[in-house]
Amino acid sequence: MKWDTILTEAAERIKTVVKQLMATSNAEKTYGIGAGGDPKKHIDLEAEKALVETLNEHSVNFTLISEESGVQHYGSKPTCYVTADPIDGTTNILRGLPFACTSIAISRTRRLDSIQAAAVADLFHDTLYLAEKERGAFRNDQKINPSKTSKLSEAVIGVDLNTYKIANLTVKLNQLLAKTKHIRHLGANALELCYVADGTTDAFIDIRGKLRTTDIAAATLIMLEAGAIVTTPDNNNLRNTLSPREKASFIAAGNKELHKIILEDLQQA
Ligand SMILES: [Mg+2]
Repeated sequence: MKWDTILTEAAERIKTVVKQLMATSNAEKTYGIGAGGDPKKHIDLEAEKALVETLNEHSVNFTLISEESGVQHYGSKPTCYVTADPIDGTTNILRGLPFACTSIAISRTRRLDSIQAAAVADLFHDTLYLAEKERGAFRNDQKINPSKTSKLSEAVIGVDLNTYKIANLTVKLNQLLAKTKHIRHLGANALELCYVADGTTDAFIDIRGKLRTTDIAAATLIMLEAGAIVTTPDNNNLRNTLSPREKASFIAAGNKELHKIILEDLQQA
């Protein structure tokens, strides 16, 4: 399979659909709750449809693991898993905040550490991240590298603080937040993880235990192939099952030094 071609085509198609729907009142129409637990919006379902159509046109037999439709088989004998969050950042799109992406990962098994190819496409800008296992990670065909910043006092770090259990979370993050130069959360974690991969930011932390593996599947390969470090808060590799229900917590950093500082800081809290 020429995954880079197929993934690029799927991303372009999703982008077109999203752009067409974005300005319409239809976009927000809700159809019950999706497999990942969030309401299924018309715009999410159309984006997923664009992905499935592209794969069908390339005669891919696959099992889709999607935030919207859950697990579904396409073709006579599925030969791979396609883990997708067709739109990451739906709230941003519906509010007109220009930060959202589509996230697609290809794997042979249903585990996060078996991703072979991945794409994350910015839905508002012409930025496409692609990675294939052992072939590096690219942004618009340019090889990417993570940041070398190793001091919190110089770092720009993304932190997902979006939880009603915020009191528990801030106890753990208090020291880290106080020591870090700049904190960001932009509302589409897959794209924010690609920013760690290409050095736009220095790290990204999500220890809420809320993020679905469908959200991070593609970005995890992109980060690892770029040379960034991503582990669980206990410093283990991410080996979660690919499922819209499976949740993951992680620390992603541009380099070992910064990763170690963050890890130690969290462990002390
Ligand atoms: Mg989504």
